[in-house]
Amino acid sequence: MPSACSIRVRGVVQGVGFRPFVYRLARANTLAGWVLNGEEGVEIFLEGAEKGLLAFVRDLKSQPPPASSVTDIEVLRADPVGLIGFTIRESHRHERLTVRISPDLPICDECLKELFDPADRRFWYPYINCTNCGPRYTVVLRLPYDRANTTMHDWPLDGYCAAEYRNPGNRRFDAQPVACAACGPSYFLRRGDEDVRGSEESIRYAAQLLKSGSILAVKGLGGYHLVCDASNPAAVAALRERKYRKEKPFAIMARDLDVARGLIELSAEAEGLLQSSARPIVLAPAKSELTQIAAGVAPENNEFGVMLPYTPLHYLLFAAGAPEVLVMTSANRSSEPIAYEDYEALDRLSGIADAFLMGERPIARRVDDSVARDGVFGPVIVRRARGYAPGAVANLPIGRPILAVGADLKNTITLVVDGQAFMSQHIGDLGHYESLRALKETIQDLISMYEVRAEELLVVHDSHPQYASTSHALALGIPQTLAVQHHRAHIASVLAERGEWEKRVVGVSFDGTGYGDDGGIWGGEIFVGSIKQGFERVVHLRTAALPGGDAAAQYPVQAAAGFLVQVDSLPDLTASPFRFSSRYMQAVDLIQKRVRTFPTSSIGRLFDTAAALLGFAREVTFEGQAAMWLEQVACSAPATQAYPFPYVEHELDFRPLLQSIVRDRIRGRSLPEIARAFQLGLAHGLRDAVVSIGERCNLNVVVLSGGVFQNELLLKDIKSLLEVEHFEIWTNHVVPPNDGGISLGQAATAAFARLDRNN
Ligand code: ZN
Ligand code: FE
Repeated sequence: MPSACSIRVRGVVQGVGFRPFVYRLARANTLAGWVLNGEEGVEIFLEGAEKGLLAFVRDLKSQPPPASSVTDIEVLRADPVGLIGFTIRESHRHERLTVRISPDLPICDECLKELFDPADRRFWYPYINCTNCGPRYTVVLRLPYDRANTTMHDWPLDGYCAAEYRNPGNRRFDAQPVACAACGPSYFLRRGDEDVRGSEESIRYAAQLLKSGSILAVKGLGGYHLVCDASNPAAVAALRERKYRKEKPFAIMARDLDVARGLIELSAEAEGLLQSSARPIVLAPAKSELTQIAAGVAPENNEFGVMLPYTPLHYLLFAAGAPEVLVMTSANRSSEPIAYEDYEALDRLSGIADAFLMGERPIARRVDDSVARDGVFGPVIVRRARGYAPGAVANLPIGRPILAVGADLKNTITLVVDGQAFMSQHIGDLGHYESLRALKETIQDLISMYEVRAEELLVVHDSHPQYASTSHALALGIPQTLAVQHHRAHIASVLAERGEWEKRVVGVSFDGTGYGDDGGIWGGEIFVGSIKQGFERVVHLRTAALPGGDAAAQYPVQAAAGFLVQVDSLPDLTASPFRFSSRYMQAVDLIQKRVRTFPTSSIGRLFDTAAALLGFAREVTFEGQAAMWLEQVACSAPATQAYPFPYVEHELDFRPLLQSIVRDRIRGRSLPEIARAFQLGLAHGLRDAVVSIGERCNLNVVVLSGGVFQNELLLKDIKSLLEVEHFEIWTNHVVPPNDGGISLGQAATAAFARLDRNN
């Protein structure tokens, strides 16, 4: 007696080999029926023996295709209709496309084997891929995800590829970017007037150039990289100079896991991240006795950012003899977005790269490498881009579409469609014209991809009136807009990840900067509340003056001036051991005259002040640099006593903290010990405030979010202090704790906001 059922599978299930997988599974269990890509995912109808149906459902759940990500499987009993055989049916033309676009995938083991098999048709072919691997988001131009809608549309399949593409039993069935050397795009190398044609010749030549110390611009999945030998100090120094990148660490690519293990201390979790399908850059402590990496790769830094090869091209470069550790940094100048178009790369990088290794396949959109670490509370994504974007980061209980445009630093956007929150790739710092352009493109891109009608949108932006993201959001001309305060958005981002809308928590946002309700520059805030009810600010860092406003973030001594004027009996800080520059006195002058001076409660600026007192008196060349420097200094210190950072009357008072630093500096105490005592002081102050609020409001969950919580040493101290007080600590895992996570927090807040008619 035959039985039947219909099954619906949701999640990332299209363009990842799901239908051929279902086809094979049905045949293996001698079931009849069909499978198709429907509006909400994959739809399956099956009939046959009960035993076969059960086995099918079991295997569907336990061994879905590696590239898929199933969120939900719904199985309903049905009446058998007497079907014969199993077929893959044509897709419905979708009315509404809420199907998820898969992020890009690293080359799979089977393709890798073929890549190095001389008997295989795709031997040494740098664009080899299949349904389990290869590009997705970086090649799709529009939905539905068919070849004609990808950047491969100019390369018709030859007979060999077409046969595989049409055969449901083949690994390349319906693999949209499939190609071979005979029908597909290839790589070439350009060096001055010289052009080297042919993928193999150009890749071998590129490997030779890298070995001899050249800097190469290499076209990758989501943009160009600048690449050189990480063990060659001259090459690394030349790259820094030509790229105008003074100190920010370069990412490196290790040939394989063994090489990576030789570079950094890897926990099991960190190894998992390194090899995960996103293949992010993983931040981890550098091995102490490391000699082969040039000091210029990560100056004054105890950490390296390491990734493993993820495209066929990377594997080929190493196989062709490229150095086993390569600097591999986004091709751009300073913090502009990554270059992804060929003309743009040739134009912008001509003074930086000695040669260009270019591929013919166009890149549909720029997508940088992602950055992650195995943190004190588990995995943290520091930059969410390739391999993660444009994945869903949360489900929100709201039907109407929402567009949240994020903040101005580390910008990302979030688009909510049918309750699914899709976060864009990292866009960058909107101070750059190029980044602002990228923001506009990304908004257009996601809105048209998901076929959202702009007039239905609720547009959410930061409450900072001068943010470029705010201006752009308002300039979209969409009637319904909503401003969300920066630090509340940080806290909401953590709760949104966990689907906690009503849970009341103590929310701590220690951050660099953000526009406050009172127009001041906030960044040391403690709230009580929930996403649904909103967050009330109950404690903050004692307010200091910030001469020059947000611009002071560039000069620790300038930020320091506003904090230190409140400290009693201060010595002459322009003298030894502090030696503050004249910028400090100018800043003091601004404060006294009350010119261009703003109130701030930013912990980021308090870190700058401490760093300045410890000797970091120069200009910072990237966001958060002084705080990172201080954390590094503190790491080498033995256990010590915390400096006092008292919690009194809704304020955390920084004066005793800074007084202690000044005193100990003059006494000649070691820098690591002072830095450690400072960080411990912050942790103790936070603990005191949180415990007191928790008791008063009967709360036992504390949420930590904001850029300062990228400080692992600080998190470690907070963890040990709060766990003995029986607090549960929630942090970000899906989106970054820095401003890259703001757009999710904005979207989640908006989903519950009561909007009046003028809004
Ligand atoms: Zn593959
Ligand atoms: Fe922030």
